[in-house]
Formats: sequence, structure tokens, C-alpha cells
Amino acid sequence: MVLLGIDIGGTQIKAGMVDEAGAILAARTIATPPDMDTFLPSLQDAVRWLLEATALPAGVGIGCKGIINPDSTRVETLSGGLHYLEGQLLSDLIGLPKDVPVFADNAARVALAGEMVWGAAQGHDNVLMLTLGMGVGGAVLADGRLLRGHCGVAGHLGHITVEPDGVLCACGNRGCLETVFSARAIEGEAWSAVHRGCSSSLTRLFREQPQLATCRTVFQAASEGDELALAIVSKAIRRLGAALAGLLHVFDPEFVILGGHVADAGADLLVPLQEEVWARSRGLLGREVPIVEQEVADKSGIVGAAGLVMAPRLT
Ligand SMILES: [Zn+2]
Repeated sequence: MVLLGIDIGGTQIKAGMVDEAGAILAARTIATPPDMDTFLPSLQDAVRWLLEATALPAGVGIGCKGIINPDSTRVETLSGGLHYLEGQLLSDLIGLPKDVPVFADNAARVALAGEMVWGAAQGHDNVLMLTLGMGVGGAVLADGRLLRGHCGVAGHLGHITVEPDGVLCACGNRGCLETVFSARAIEGEAWSAVHRGCSSSLTRLFREQPQLATCRTVFQAASEGDELALAIVSKAIRRLGAALAGLLHVFDPEFVILGGHVADAGADLLVPLQEEVWARSRGLLGREVPIVEQEVADKSGIVGAAGLVMAPRLT
């Protein structure tokens, strides 16, 4: 049996055939088209290529930014360059026979679905997941159910307020977690310090090789003892830890899974984060809640999306 997993992102769309064990058999990546007229043929060409390379899938799972209705696969809200998908039924866009079932959901929930089927959340009922990338996505498995809420918005953990008067977030609120702990936020903080003329190994690097001005570089400089980078990373981790402690008090999960490319920082992130969370939550919880990296190693989103087909009915 093969499953088709599709990740629809702001810059790329990734599609791949996945086997029952969660291994990718064939995959295609296309640049996210600018409009609906190019979206349909681009996606359907990629799907056709995958079908020829493998077989007709037993089901399709789609992860997409924004608010997706999992019952109908309708895109309810999607800002940014993919705005043209609003109101569309994703199941209508794949170009496969109607008897192939199609499941779709928000990308972070899809990542947790993948962990439920093939990764760290297998056999567990209470798990939080944060996807730390350019933004911060989130998903909540509570008492065995993936939370969706009244309008499908539940689990947007990147948009809890951590600074009431903080900077404006893409969602319209101020001081969301995403504005202080995300690749974009950490890069922005480093750029701003470099522009202010702060002394740091980042100053020369960012000016001479701006393509290296990434969150990963800031974490790397911090691990090498650069004081500015260390201050930026420590401040960001403290805020993430504070937010996470609050979330533990709300959801009482068995453990927390971190995904997304910022989580690649590994122990440089996990160790101080665990300490911050423990200090803030041990009084009420009385136990240390493990924070672990995602196990579904594929960061493309394809495997997680395919997992949506295999996951127990999640609504
Ligand atoms: Zn926000």
C-alpha cells in the first residue's frame, strides 16, 4: 500500500509517495505557484509523475498553512501568497479518482499526526507539539483527541501572547510567541543588534555573508561563546520556556515534541529550555515533563501528511 502525502507551504509544495512504514518512495518539490491558474497544473503534474513512479495511493493526506476544515478539506482561512486557495476544497485539486480518500489539516496538526502514527506520540494520549520554523506552529493531543476547537483554530500555540505590548504579529495580535521565538524573530533580533553596531562575531559575518544571517548561525555563534548571540538565544529560550510552562499547566501533557528546523539546534536548545520549563512548572506539576525532538525525521512534511491517512479518526 502506498499513501500520498502533500505539504502545501508558502514557498514550496512537496508531494511524495510513502509506504506503510513511513518511508518516502518517491517525491517531488515544486515552487509554490503565484495563482490558481498555475497551481492546478503544477500540482496535478507532480501527482501524475508520482503515480507513474509508484502506484495509485490508498489515500491522500494534505498539510497546509492556515485553517483547514478536516471534514470537507475546505481551506477556511489562508493569508499570504496562498490566499487564492481560500474557499477551495483541497480534495478537488489533486486530480485523482473520487474514490481515493483525501484528508487535510493544518500543517502543525499534520506533523503531530505523523508522530502519532510513526513517531514519538505512538500510543500516547496527551502530547503537545511545537513546530519551530520561520514561524511557530502548534498542535495538541489531549485525552486521545487532536484539539480543533469551535472554529478549527485550537492549537495555534505560536500565537499565545508572551509580551502584551510586544511587536505586531502577522496574526494581528501583539507579542505572540512567534514574534520572540522563531527563526524569523531570532534572525531579526541579531540583525538589529548588528545594525546597532554591537560587538559580536555575527557583525562581520552578517555584513560580509548575509546569506549566512540565519537562526542556525546565531545558535552556532552562541555555542561558540559569542556573548551577543548567547544573549539573544538565552532571551528567546527563556520566553519559549515561560510560554511552554503555561501550556503545561493548561494541558498537562506526558511530554512535548519539538519539530521544525530551529529544533535542529538540539541540546543547545533542549537543555536550557528543559531547565527553564522545570523551574517554572515543578510547583504545580510536581514532575519534569520531557521535551523531545520529533522522530519522524522527514522535515518536508510529506510523511506527516501521509500519516493523516493512517491516524485514527482525529476529529
Ligand atoms: Zn500571532
